[in-house]
Amino acid sequence: MPNFKNILTQFTQTAQSPVQSQYPMSRECSFRIGGPARYFCAPPNVPALRDCVLLARNLGIAYFILGGGSNLIFRDEGFNGIVISTKKLDSVFVQPKGRVDAGAGLSNRTLTAETVKNGLSGFEWASGLPGTIGGGIFMNAKCYGSAFSEIVCDVTALTPDGEQVHVKHSDCGFAYKRSLFQTNGYILTGVALQLLPGDNEAIRRRNDEVRQDREQKGQFLFPSAGCAFKNDYNIGVPAGRLIESCGLKGHQIGRVRVYEQHANFIINTGNGRTRDVLELMDLMAARVWEKHHIRLEPEIRVVP
Ligand SMILES: Cc1cc2nc3c(=O)[nH]c(=O)nc-3n(C[C@H](O)[C@H](O)[C@H](O)COP(=O)(O)OP(=O)(O)OC[C@H]3O[C@@H](n4cnc5c(N)ncnc54)[C@H](O)[C@@H]3O)c2cc1C
Repeated sequence: MPNFKNILTQFTQTAQSPVQSQYPMSRECSFRIGGPARYFCAPPNVPALRDCVLLARNLGIAYFILGGGSNLIFRDEGFNGIVISTKKLDSVFVQPKGRVDAGAGLSNRTLTAETVKNGLSGFEWASGLPGTIGGGIFMNAKCYGSAFSEIVCDVTALTPDGEQVHVKHSDCGFAYKRSLFQTNGYILTGVALQLLPGDNEAIRRRNDEVRQDREQKGQFLFPSAGCAFKNDYNIGVPAGRLIESCGLKGHQIGRVRVYEQHANFIINTGNGRTRDVLELMDLMAARVWEKHHIRLEPEIRVVP
């Protein structure tokens, strides 16, 4: 059984980049909450990422794939395994006729800038959406009336065995805030998106409108992971309204609280703890159940 130092050395060679140990995940997550990962790395290319996954599997060490860290929370105790960030898989190639080939770790923010530069319409709805393209597709993130599923042509991914596969749009299992990748363990490495030629100035204006709307709603004033619960469109009332109707706006546990400006957001007012977030989420779900007999489905993912 290799010792801790040997494992760190093996991962560092395999990741083709430094591997940190006891790395605080609060640094990588928009919530600014979460304990340390035993190992953390950001491989510079797909073969290095694949080799890290295979090494972790051979050593019997758990691994977790991290995008932009804007939809999740690590437990206070941390993660006893290796967190593999996609942030260096950030290539972007604009092809003719509005097709864009992107690395899964490309940030939504960079793609937004590219669309303005290249006069490509169809991504304005994601202006100001934190995270990466890969994370957005995994979550099938949705806002301002659109979702990732509407612009994905196909996805390149690694199976848990390290085999590279191409997944067509029709096989991605997209539904409201769902994709097949939430259940099959595939690691998204690249994606082909279809956008449309458009007017740079009009695209920039719409991007600004969408981002400013988020700013006005105070979404960036406190660390958070976005909406705590999914909306249920069959009910027709957003989760935030249901939570608000239970009088929970401003309710605080420890250093985290239900946001006064948006009851479906939990904000970290400084040094918040994961256990407090989870207690607050339990309370929100319980109160909504008591009052409305509606079960809220969590949107924030808890690791592990
Ligand atoms: C202020 C704020 C506002 C937000 N507004 C919205 C909104 O309007 N609509 C909305 O839908 N969401 C919203 N979110 C949530 C979040 O930004 C999105 O879900 C985003 O798409 C997550 O992407 P990410 O790269 O940060 O993923 P992460 O949080 O890093 O990961 C989310 C999940 O995806 C998996 N994953 C990430 N990348 C890969 C990959 N390459 N391969 C396999 N699995 C992967 C992770 O393992 C994890 O399970 C908001 C968040 C914040 C902080």
